[in-house]
Amino acid sequence: MKVNLGAPDITDKEINLVKEVLESGILSIGPKIEEFENKFTKYFNVKHAIGVNSGTSALHLLIRSLDIKDGDEVITTPFSFVASTNCILFERAKPVFVDIDEETLNIDINKIEEKITDRTKVILPVDVFGHPNNMTEIMKLAKKYNLKVIEDSCEAIGSEYKGIKSGTLADAGVFAFYPNKQITTGEGGMIITNNDNIAELCRSMRSQGRATTGLWLYHERLGYNYRMSEINAAVGIIQMERLKEIIAKRDKIAQIYNEKLKDIKGVILPYVDSKVTNMSWFVYVIRLEDNIDRNKIIDYLTESGIACKPYFTPIHLQPYMRNMFGFKEGDFPITEKVGKSTIALPFHNKLNKADIDYVVKKLNEAINKI
Ligand SMILES: *Cc1c(COP(=O)(O)O)cnc(C)c1O
Repeated sequence: MKVNLGAPDITDKEINLVKEVLESGILSIGPKIEEFENKFTKYFNVKHAIGVNSGTSALHLLIRSLDIKDGDEVITTPFSFVASTNCILFERAKPVFVDIDEETLNIDINKIEEKITDRTKVILPVDVFGHPNNMTEIMKLAKKYNLKVIEDSCEAIGSEYKGIKSGTLADAGVFAFYPNKQITTGEGGMIITNNDNIAELCRSMRSQGRATTGLWLYHERLGYNYRMSEINAAVGIIQMERLKEIIAKRDKIAQIYNEKLKDIKGVILPYVDSKVTNMSWFVYVIRLEDNIDRNKIIDYLTESGIACKPYFTPIHLQPYMRNMFGFKEGDFPITEKVGKSTIALPFHNKLNKADIDYVVKKLNEAINKI
């Protein structure tokens, strides 16, 4: 038996719209990207949505649009996918890590203030594994110190904290559409914002620094080619139409896992705060109690045909980060403790009960043998 870690949920609707785009002859800068962006302004009730070719590109454009420069400090979490830190490094600014909350696995809001200095420009929280941050609190802090906030909601499309959707309270929010995300475009990303200036800069910079209403060969500023093609946008349009269905399917699978894993000793179920009013599950990540060797469990599951991953290796312990900043073990104890105990189990919309039963059975076996 083989069980995949993730899998995109693509129907005939996506396929047909892609076919339509290919037959139309308009493969980039056309009506589909606009339609895809309009789905976001509507769903999130925000002024602007700017589609780009990846979540990383979206984060990079936002760092640039906020004029972050050499030596400026950006407060963020070391427990994330590397892109949320790399976008800071692209502009030679300094990531200032704050350890995480052991339950939500998001940045510990109570530890942010002590890291704010004269050079701090931005707070960049990440909604880890889909769990939203308490953005009301983060925005209060930002206001007090006159900081900007970029919310990396790449893993949390549709999640809500006390009725507030991830990505909407910050100066800008970011989503991503790699195939393992809740919705996919193959590759892609989206910026949402109510700030006209940020929106205009991001629109310009995603397309070689052109003025948004100017000539093709008139470049106002340094820009990139971070555009999303019409083909990718077509997939995204349908995926957005299906978002509610997709979030519900994932929640159902998470609940089945919760039910079947709750009595297995040594397993800590994923935490969802009671203030989360809608949970959009990116991955299903359990933790193992400290006395269990997580890596051996992963090896056992892998040998049984079950794909699983140790999400995340702390960013500050990645080789390039150790080299650049001299980070070492012990710098962010909670992040490191959590990083050693997690397993992302197979989690996607096509997972059936038999798959889940097999995963649970093998996990139970592994824990009893190891
Ligand atoms: C997926 C993801 C991104 C963006 O990734 P891309 O592969 O560039 O689309 C950024 N931050 C986090 C936390 C992510 O999970």
